[in-house]
Amino acid sequence: MAAPRKSTRRCTKCDRPAAPGHRQCRAHVAYFREYRRKRREAGRCIQCGAGARGYQLCTACAERSSELMRERYRERRDAGRCVICGAASHGESLCRPCATHKARSRRRLRAESG
Ligand SMILES: [Zn+2]
Ligand SMILES: [Zn+2]
Ligand SMILES: [Zn+2]
Repeated sequence: MAAPRKSTRRCTKCDRPAAPGHRQCRAHVAYFREYRRKRREAGRCIQCGAGARGYQLCTACAERSSELMRERYRERRDAGRCVICGAASHGESLCRPCATHKARSRRRLRAESG
């Protein structure tokens, strides 16, 4: 085996150099992108592959993730932290940057819809 060089990273799946910003070569990056897209198109859960009836997540995965979100939300709110990023928010439910970001994206959404 050749000694590792830091100049060119190799694809984790084959011997070609990895594409910039990726852990795999171009071919494999495209392959995995296609794989995820197919899964979604087949109506399968992108996490476990179970039937998801057109949703990104199956019922079990969706339930688990929303439960986790709820739990985290409550924890952060009770701790007086931003419910999105967990930063100190001085008693508000959102910290400054998150509140600004949210207000801005809401404005943009309204502008786009009409
Ligand atoms: Zn590859
Ligand atoms: Zn699932
Ligand atoms: Zn925040």
